[in-house]
Amino acid sequence: METVQRVTNGRFDVYVVGKRKDKVFAVDKGRCKGCQICVTVCPYDALYMSNEKNTRGYFYPVENGKCVACRQCVHACPDFALSIHKLEEVAQPLEAR
Ligand code: SF4
Ligand code: SF4
Repeated sequence: METVQRVTNGRFDVYVVGKRKDKVFAVDKGRCKGCQICVTVCPYDALYMSNEKNTRGYFYPVENGKCVACRQCVHACPDFALSIHKLEEVAQPLEAR
């Protein structure tokens, strides 16, 4: 079982990508509408839906440590809620971008 490094950074959940220590996977929880497209498209079975709801009342994706930063979910999300960043970039708040 891989260790999932999850950090809440304001409205984002940020994960260090397990197999790519130089990358992070970020979930903008407030943008998510709970459609689960990201869970369906991930070829690595890296996402599941949260038990908690976001501020809009929707469940949102949680990363389980299998993400390889392929970006397929990033491109599939209709609400631009998912993103991949370099690890050093998240030293500053993502909201500032
Ligand atoms: S595809 Fe986007 S809007 Fe849909 S559940 Fe995933 S993060 Fe949320
Ligand atoms: S970036 Fe790729 S591996 Fe990571 S959660 Fe998205 S689809 Fe899955």
